[in-house]
Amino acid sequence: MTGLRASYDVLPRELYLKAGKGAEILYWDKNTKFCGVCGAPMKLHTDISKRCTNCGKEVWPQLATAIIVLVRRGDSILLVHAHNLRGKYYGLVAGFVETGETLEECVRRELMEETGVRVENIRYFGSQPWPYPCGLMIGFYADYVEGDLHLQRSEIAYGGWFNRDKLPDIPGKVSMARMLIDAWLEGRLAEGCGG
Ligand SMILES: [Zn+2]
Repeated sequence: MTGLRASYDVLPRELYLKAGKGAEILYWDKNTKFCGVCGAPMKLHTDISKRCTNCGKEVWPQLATAIIVLVRRGDSILLVHAHNLRGKYYGLVAGFVETGETLEECVRRELMEETGVRVENIRYFGSQPWPYPCGLMIGFYADYVEGDLHLQRSEIAYGGWFNRDKLPDIPGKVSMARMLIDAWLEGRLAEGCGG
């Protein structure tokens, strides 16, 4: 037996995704025992919805949407160690999307808040379920424009610009951060277009 995150390295992708979905549904079930409107017990209505036994309020599993972004500056990329990362490795700037915000606005806000860096050419890279416990991770890459690095100490322990010859320890292959970094290393990200 192994934890869900570690299972990525041994399970076929399809099974890893199924296990993740299972974990998310169990988390949702545990956290929706009672109605948020009237407090009565909730009852399973369909495979992925519940209905309140008193007022009829329906609920579905909710996703916490987060962005993660690789920032390029010349031959370097921006890597940070957030306090919530386990281990000593460096990752990419990431954060939860706020209510009423577009994904691009979230990318700009998180970068400004956590690092003081402004970017352009924000481009979509890909997305992945992130069942820890109920996330959807949306990956972007962007080009540095301006701003000295000011790390937000409440969120980021340390960080900096790194080129490919001097990369520190980076996240495991399960993560979107690693997929972005690998794509950059292998030259699979589109060049900036100045727009
Ligand atoms: Zn109710």
